[in-house]
This record gives sequence, structure tokens and C-alpha cells, in this order.
Amino acid sequence: MTYRFEFYPYQRQFRHPLTTHHGIWKVREGIILRLSDEKGRVGWGEIAPLPWFGSETFEQALTFCQQFPSQITSTDIFSIPAEFPACQFGFESAWEECRDVAGYVWETEKISPSLLNSSLNYSYLLPTGEAALTSWQQGWQQGDRTFKWKIGVTSMESELRWFDQLVQALPQSAQLRLDANGGLTQNQAQQWLQMADQAGIVEFLEQPLPPEEFAAMRAMYDQYRTAIALDESVATLNQLKTCYQQGWRGIFVIKAAIAGSPKQLRQFCQTHDVDVVFSSVFETAIARQAVLNLATELSHPHRAVGFGVNHWFVE
Ligand code: MG
Repeated sequence: MTYRFEFYPYQRQFRHPLTTHHGIWKVREGIILRLSDEKGRVGWGEIAPLPWFGSETFEQALTFCQQFPSQITSTDIFSIPAEFPACQFGFESAWEECRDVAGYVWETEKISPSLLNSSLNYSYLLPTGEAALTSWQQGWQQGDRTFKWKIGVTSMESELRWFDQLVQALPQSAQLRLDANGGLTQNQAQQWLQMADQAGIVEFLEQPLPPEEFAAMRAMYDQYRTAIALDESVATLNQLKTCYQQGWRGIFVIKAAIAGSPKQLRQFCQTHDVDVVFSSVFETAIARQAVLNLATELSHPHRAVGFGVNHWFVE
């Protein structure tokens, strides 16, 4: 079977720039893929790179698409090298849709994808800094009960003060995720974990230290009640496997759109007992749907998916 391949680069602007420890992000750039076969079946995919997380850049992905032939086979798709994890995800998910692989599963389960996805809870991404103190209500009103707040961006003193106020303001049934994007020192991470243990509403502290400090994070995992999640450390499936082999038993945040082959990700998650949270890379609805389908299959049933991000875009 050969597929006709077309691609369309896109740009999407954030309503407000997103500030994290990695810097300021204003425009999401990506590539929409379209595969079609001789029977007229069509599959859409999306390449949404995140180079500061270790994926290929947008330019590399674009060059890759320009050099790919316009007629391709599944062998071409499954031979995309691991240095192009976002391309692997985009092409494979388009191929799955074209083959209606997911559709077959839904039909046998007698349930539609949208119905299945509706069982997922979303984690609402708060703005960085003091603005979080007033913004959580918008998420709460739309039914979100899990909130995520970026830390390690400005002074520790200010962030701890806002954290205290946020914990006071949030209703008891809310849960808060703290994401440091690897921006804390060991000393700061320990302070945050102590504060989180006392607050009682922190679901986990995400990537407190940079990936090189894996051993320190693993040690902290045993010392505090608050769980620790790895994100930057496990950006691709190969990194995820390495951390698992090195004994990580905390949470794994999976940004599936840049993790590589969804087929291999499925295989790994189905054969290992891993606590995973699926998370957005600010992709469009095309990759989002593919990731939510994976999340429905593979994620921990009690954990919200990190996809409460639509309010970040100008539609
Ligand atoms: Mg993160």
C-alpha cells in the first residue's frame, strides 16, 4: 500500500506569551500532515516540535518533510530515525488514522472516541507568577479540579508567598501540580517539597532539578510525601526507558507528540507498571486528538491529563 503525502506548515499565536524556566514562548509552529490511500481513505497527523525539550526543531522537521517522497509506504513511516521524534509521532498517527486502526478499537469497544475522551479530567494551566491567584477561578468554573503552576521562574521568596496564597484560595477538593521545568537547586527543591507536604493539596512536583541530577531526584522521591514527576528527563521514549531502568518509580509525564513512535510507546506502557500523565506541547486539535486517544488507552485513571490549555490561544 502506498500513500500520497502532503504537508502544511502552520503558526499559532499564544494569547499571552508562555513564561517558563526555559524562557518566553510566543508562537507555536508546526506542520500538519495528510496521508491518503488508493481507496480514498485519509489520515491527518501533526508534527509539533519542542526543541528545548530535545526534539528536532521546526526547521529540521520541515526539511524532513520536503525531502520525503510524495508517495510513501508504511515501511518509510516506520523507518523514520529516532532523531526526529515529533516526525515519528506525526507520520505514525496519520498512518493509524488512515488505516482506521483507532476506529477499529472504538468499534470493538462499542464506544466512540469522543465519549471515551470525555472520561478524562483536565489539568488547567495557570499563568506564571501572581496572576495564578485570580486565574484559577476560570478553570474551576468550567469544571477543572486540577491546576498546574510553573515555578522556578522568579524569586523563590515571591513564589513561596504566592503559593501560600494560592493554597489558601483554592477549594479543598482542588489539586495543584507544581512544575519547575528543572529550574530549582537541590536546596530549593527540598524547601518546595516541605511546603508541598504541609499544604496537602499538591499532587506532585514536576521536574524539580535538571535531567543530569536524576540521582538527587530519586533520593528526594523517598524523602517526601509529595510525589515527584519527571518531564524534561523523559522527553523521548528512549529517555523514559532509561529512567525506568535506572529505578524511577515516580510519575512520568509523557508529551506524546514529541516522544516518538506511538506504537512503541503503547508497547512500553502496556508491558511495564508505569504511572503516567499525558501532557500537551500546545499542539492543534489534530495531534491533541491522537494524544488523547493514547491517554484514554494508557494513562493512570485517577490523574488528569495536562491538556487544559485551550485558553492560552487566540482562536
Ligand atoms: Mg513540565
